[in-house]
Amino acid sequence: MSKKKPKTLGTALPSIIKILRHFWPHLRQQQRLIWTAFFALFAETAMRLLEPWPLKLMFDRVILPGFQVETIGIRGLEGLSPVLVLTLLAIALILIAALRGMFAYLSAVNMAVAATHVMTDIRSTLYSHIQRLSLSFHNQAKSGDLITRVTYDIERLREVTVVAALPLIANTVTLLGMVGVMIFLNWELAIIAIAILPLFLITTRHMGNKIQVVARRQRKREGAMAASAAEAIGAMQVVQALSLESMLEQTFSKQNQKSLKESAEAQRLRAGQERLVEILVAIATSLVLWRGVQLTLQGAVTPGDLLVFITYLKVAFKPMRQLAKYTGQIAKATASGERIISLMEIQPDVRDLRGALPAPAFKGAVRCENVTFAYRSNQGILRNLSFEVQPGQRVAIVGPSGSGKSTLVSLLLRLYDPIEGSVCIDDHDLREYTLASLRPQISIVLQDSILFAATVQDNIAYGNPSATDEDIIAAAKLANAHDFITQLPDGYDTMLGERGATLSGGQRQRIAIARAAVRKAAIVILDEPTTGLDNASEWEVTEALHRLTQNCTTFWISHNLHTVQDADQIFYLEQGQLWEQGTHSDLMELNGRYARLYRMQENQRPLALVS
Ligand code: ADP
Repeated sequence: MSKKKPKTLGTALPSIIKILRHFWPHLRQQQRLIWTAFFALFAETAMRLLEPWPLKLMFDRVILPGFQVETIGIRGLEGLSPVLVLTLLAIALILIAALRGMFAYLSAVNMAVAATHVMTDIRSTLYSHIQRLSLSFHNQAKSGDLITRVTYDIERLREVTVVAALPLIANTVTLLGMVGVMIFLNWELAIIAIAILPLFLITTRHMGNKIQVVARRQRKREGAMAASAAEAIGAMQVVQALSLESMLEQTFSKQNQKSLKESAEAQRLRAGQERLVEILVAIATSLVLWRGVQLTLQGAVTPGDLLVFITYLKVAFKPMRQLAKYTGQIAKATASGERIISLMEIQPDVRDLRGALPAPAFKGAVRCENVTFAYRSNQGILRNLSFEVQPGQRVAIVGPSGSGKSTLVSLLLRLYDPIEGSVCIDDHDLREYTLASLRPQISIVLQDSILFAATVQDNIAYGNPSATDEDIIAAAKLANAHDFITQLPDGYDTMLGERGATLSGGQRQRIAIARAAVRKAAIVILDEPTTGLDNASEWEVTEALHRLTQNCTTFWISHNLHTVQDADQIFYLEQGQLWEQGTHSDLMELNGRYARLYRMQENQRPLALVS
């Protein structure tokens, strides 16, 4: 990771504006909540500013004039008894505090709800965006990084909006309000009070940086400690067998001691910072008092004004200290926001072209015309491939591994677009169809079929979301899966573990076949679906596959030529070229590459059976 200097709020500002602009449509949907939050925020600030005022009024208008209520100067109160006025002011004090609490609550809750809505929204958009990105993107992207963006980055953005951005705005408004009120009361005292600010900012920043450095070092050490402990505990057998216990113990305890020292250092710095702030507040207070009392004696300010000043000073330092903390957090969160935006800005390579139309129900005629394809430039994975397949024909694709068989079928699914030439279904280039209408009309069964952490029923239904229960059972029967599914603890409602870990390979394949069958597609793609299965499972799976592919245009990639020798057409691929094409007997007669491979497998067969 690059060790960039953390951004300050100033340098992060353009990013913040960019993030706000990018997410504006999402924010706009939560307008009401956000406006309510801001209204409550300003009301809360007003209450905070008002808080010392009843006290000021008590001083100036009640205590000093010796309970001369007439002097209170608030219309409507003149005729009231001093005790009543005092009581009213006391009640006002409570009311202000209560209102401030209520507004603070309202702004926090509304903002939190709005932020959660917005982030959930952005997360969904991001997730579907990632899913739509082409495989060429996913081949290069690290899945961990993508997951981080969907979960961690979004969460950080949400948290920071609520935990830092709102208080940051609240504190800034409060501080500005306080400065405004102070200037209104007496500008000279206001300047004295504000003069201490730069000193305050410099010291807290300096100390803050120091604390951060120590805290980061400590976190790192703790991470390393946890990792080495996990390593040793995970490999206890080796540790004990090699008698490494005491050596590992010593390393661990050394790390532990260092971590202790750093933790103490961080605590010491934090405590020091708090004391320093207290001293600065004391200096500011004493300066204000020193000059303030003189001004009071001159009659320029009232004792109540002085009280307001002192109270503001006391409360203003807390938001200021937090300001530094929040700006740091926000600057960091902009990095998260930018990462999300940069991902959102990637356009999928394979997407609907302008004018693409929904595909009609396919008959299943497939044609490739001079198709050339490469994952990267100057690679040449498929070279100038041409063939034609009639609806309902079964095509076997064979050839050495790495020859481009899987690549060819991924072009049929339009997971990639060819560089040159075209792939057509029912006489139309795939690019003329919308992706949403193309892919659901093709079923696939891969070598390692992925089952999701869901019920058996759902896993089959992923093939066709509109399938009824009867459809699902029929598909499972076709796939030779019904019997074993009904024997599972909860039948069709049995939850499958991640990647269907609780099932055998053959059972997983049969569920995958049911998933393909429930789609009732005209075109079926099988990519080595029986590889890695034992003989008995292979037989059951192959039988199910034959039923699945009945009357469908089928592309069956197989390394076992015996499974596919009754295919209507066999394509022999090598190094991205279609060398031979025809029925089994055609190709045997041709006596070329296919025939050689076939004979080679034939010779190995008895050996394979023995082993
Ligand atoms: P086969 O299915 O015949 O084993 P593939 O179509 O999987 O062959 O692969 C053909 C060639 O393309 C291989 O050289 C492989 O390394 C390369 N290839 C496959 N997938 C990718 C990918 N996603 N990115 C880059 N190269 C790839």
